[in-house]
Amino acid sequence: MNFFSYFNRILHGHPSGSKLLVLCSLSSGGLLAYADSHSDDNKSIIEQSPKEPQKKKVVVLGTGWAGTSFLKDLDLKSYDVQVVSPRNYFAFTPLLPSVTCGTVEARSIVEPVRNIIKKRSGEIQFWEAECLKIDPANKKVICCSNVEENAARNDKFSLEYDYLVIAVGAQVNTFNTPGVFEHCHFLKEIEDAQRIRRTVIDCFEKAVLPGMTEEERKTNLHFVIVGGGPTGVEFAADLHDFVHEDLVKIYPLVKDLVKITVIQSGDHILNMFDKRISSFAEQKFQRDGIEVLTGCRVIRVSDKLINVKMKSTGEDISIPHGIVVWSTGLGTRPLLRDFMQQIGQGNRRILATDEWLRVEGCEDVYALGDCATIDQRKIMEDISSIFKAADKDDSGFLTIEEFQDVVEDIIIRYPQVELYLKSKHFSEVTDLLKDSEGNDRDAVTIEDFELALSHVDSKMKSLPATAQVAAQQGAYLSRCFNIKEKGKHDPEGPLRFRGPGRHEFRPFRYKHFVQFVALGGEQVAAELPGDRVSMGRSTQWLWYSVYARRRTTLLNAGYAVGEVKTIQDLAGVKIQETSKPAIKSDKVLHQLSDTNN
Ligand SMILES: Cc1cc2nc3c(=O)[nH]c(=O)nc-3n(C[C@H](O)[C@H](O)[C@H](O)COP(=O)(O)OP(=O)(O)OC[C@H]3O[C@@H](n4cnc5c(N)ncnc54)[C@H](O)[C@@H]3O)c2cc1C
Repeated sequence: MNFFSYFNRILHGHPSGSKLLVLCSLSSGGLLAYADSHSDDNKSIIEQSPKEPQKKKVVVLGTGWAGTSFLKDLDLKSYDVQVVSPRNYFAFTPLLPSVTCGTVEARSIVEPVRNIIKKRSGEIQFWEAECLKIDPANKKVICCSNVEENAARNDKFSLEYDYLVIAVGAQVNTFNTPGVFEHCHFLKEIEDAQRIRRTVIDCFEKAVLPGMTEEERKTNLHFVIVGGGPTGVEFAADLHDFVHEDLVKIYPLVKDLVKITVIQSGDHILNMFDKRISSFAEQKFQRDGIEVLTGCRVIRVSDKLINVKMKSTGEDISIPHGIVVWSTGLGTRPLLRDFMQQIGQGNRRILATDEWLRVEGCEDVYALGDCATIDQRKIMEDISSIFKAADKDDSGFLTIEEFQDVVEDIIIRYPQVELYLKSKHFSEVTDLLKDSEGNDRDAVTIEDFELALSHVDSKMKSLPATAQVAAQQGAYLSRCFNIKEKGKHDPEGPLRFRGPGRHEFRPFRYKHFVQFVALGGEQVAAELPGDRVSMGRSTQWLWYSVYARRRTTLLNAGYAVGEVKTIQDLAGVKIQETSKPAIKSDKVLHQLSDTNN
């Protein structure tokens, strides 16, 4: 029994319990909602009871890592919160690759949104719907119900907001490669994982049919993964274990014909990780017989072939395949492309926010998680304002004492300074102001100051699109919302170098804890804080302790209400298999009450 099966058994090793009818009584929290069929634009307007007019209306789009983390600790005494998402559950994505091979059940990695709301005394309203348009000029969003596709009904409605929190994640990026949408599988959602699992089994079934040539069998059993990032690599590793531990026993005739190939455009797989992890993974894959094709770009995919161009030689190669899983990078959702056009960000690839997660060019709108990127301000853009603010006596010289007075604010406002100091092994910030021979100086001119800090911005890094970043941003933003009033009178942020006073809050700062990649065969690699890595079999226990803790939290929700033994029982949700795309009208989960009726 491998580690993942063991883990799965722990999660499900309980007798099945009685079903639970979940009653979500939204009105109990004092919020009333109704649909007004006479609304303008032929759409319903969901209005809130005027009971507590002082409360600001917050609309949250998305129930992924960022959205749910924001909701967890938001102070509901100050806000009326409405959540819109086409999925009525939160998915624990790090375990999604394991769902493709059945080592983890899909139902084990979801938490119903209703459950999350219930923990907040039901005071949050949830609409299972997709946001179709953001209208920042009128501070409203237009949504469409995801519950039932019925052309005769008008399922559109609009929600007004005082504050909008956009956490809609990203969609797959095909880089406009022909054939990808039609012939590739993606691995973003629960039902993608289930579809992949079914197709892998179908490939084996086809390969053992009578009358097949050996070549045809090999083609059916060639599993190609495009993208050597963590998702592609974890899927390849899980698939390898699934094939070699389970499927070859069921289909012994074709066991020697199976091939797994990972295609990567860069020179190495996992190239966003430490080099040690990347080469550890490549060696592990070599031992396992997983082929890694680096330095090539996919130019076309058809139902039987994938065409790649070798970067070094320019040669085109056609590779026959049974299934292609496409896992290369993230793209912006059409909803946000339209929004970006409206707010003057139309020429950007991804929605930009400032360091406080406020969308640039738009009032009272925040964006977090995979759908946005922080546009970190360069220190060189503000260098003369910083000098001016620090040079209190206006002497034209900055003394060490004057510099020390603003150092903390500089470090908080421009995180690249700290990274630069580390890279230069400087122990004191004032080391920055030493002369070219390394001697201390009592004071510096603006020119010296500019020169001293001129390389700092080279250390600016954009944050990775990970669950850790999204969750930390959600928690950060809810804290800012909770202390919004206090921030106005008693600001806690750094000095404003280009204006008076201080910023209300500290800017968002990401703290890296640990990033795992499961490489199959009980081997896990982890990137730890402080440029440390951990690799091998022992690392799986670290993996287990981090992920099991999160999963236990999910399961505990079930135990709290009695006989319920799984998340799915608790929520009354059912994962349906569907061939439709994940977002629009993707009916994955339903209320138990619906299916029971
Ligand atoms: C297979 C896989 C494995 C991963 N493994 C790891 C890992 O091990 N570690 C790690 O740190 N990260 C991992 N990630 C990355 C991580 O899942 C993402 O970074 C994270 O999900 C981003 O969170 P988010 O809230 O921004 O977006 P998501 O979690 O994608 O949530 C987006 C939400 O918005 C909703 N939505 C979409 N469109 C609309 C709309 N129009 N209106 C309203 N709502 C909408 C969606 O239904 C969803 O609820 C993995 C990702 C995948 C796909």
